[in-house]
Amino acid sequence: MNRLLITGSIALDSVKTPIEEHQDMLGGSASYAAVAASFFVPVNMVGIVGSDFPAEYRALYEKFSIDLDGLEVADGPTFRWSGEYEWDLNNRRTLSIALNVFETFLPKLPEAYRETPYVFLANIAPQLQMHVLEQVTRPKFIVADTMDLWIETTRDDLMELLTKIDCLVLNDSETREFTKETSLIKAARQILKWGPKYVVVKKGEHGCLLFGEDLFFSAPAYPLEDIHDPTGAGDCFAGAMAGYLAKHDRLDHDTLRRAVVYGSALASFNVEAFSLGRLQSLTPEHIEERYQLFKLMSQFEMK
Ligand code: AMP
Repeated sequence: MNRLLITGSIALDSVKTPIEEHQDMLGGSASYAAVAASFFVPVNMVGIVGSDFPAEYRALYEKFSIDLDGLEVADGPTFRWSGEYEWDLNNRRTLSIALNVFETFLPKLPEAYRETPYVFLANIAPQLQMHVLEQVTRPKFIVADTMDLWIETTRDDLMELLTKIDCLVLNDSETREFTKETSLIKAARQILKWGPKYVVVKKGEHGCLLFGEDLFFSAPAYPLEDIHDPTGAGDCFAGAMAGYLAKHDRLDHDTLRRAVVYGSALASFNVEAFSLGRLQSLTPEHIEERYQLFKLMSQFEMK
């Protein structure tokens, strides 16, 4: 079975919604992506934590058989992020961010990781994403995520990264900000010209769009009744999508469409609880059931 290499942030998150508040939970783009991807393939994780990183969170990764040889433990505190949601959970404000051990992080891939065929560069500085990529030999398919911060502060690095990856995943407002286009269609076409073969635009609770040459697919979002914490939904989406592609080891349009729907399914579960709470009780049967519901929801010609 193919493995998937994932790098990104590992964080202690404090999240506040109008209803609940939790401190120092396991978070970070790599944590969400790795756990979601592990439902499809074994994951090699590259990241950094501080000496205060709780043993129970390390045990959680191990429960999902995530390989931790690429996890560096440095002196100092783990990366911390805190955010607050409005009643409309699409609207989030970052309250504080402390890079801590990330400030001096220079990822070094264990020898055994270098030939991992599928790679997901979850959200961290594009320079770090590139640094990881440079150490991978002959990757088959590279997916990368990014955020508004990097579009605003390290645009040149991001543009360089685009020439080295196969698929960029970003959300709708970031897509518009990046390209200065109001139309997501025109914006995605512009990003394709900058390098990647595929672009996925996430639209939060409104689903997502997949673009490529001769490829357009609009995936619905699952109509959620039970939504507690949207943090990490995008990371779960992209991690599961990359995991599905690695598992099937095919990159035809049909497989890409299915990967996007499995990504949406994992994201929809993740928001049902804080941190990685929901994914801890998730089974492959639950995922399959939700995938079938996605299929049913998007059919409009019932014979
Ligand atoms: P998302 O909800 O997909 O935007 O991802 C939320 C996760 O991103 C949280 O668990 C945070 O720890 C992490 N995060 C927030 N800011 C950053 C940043 N600047 N770099 C890397 N990860 C971040």
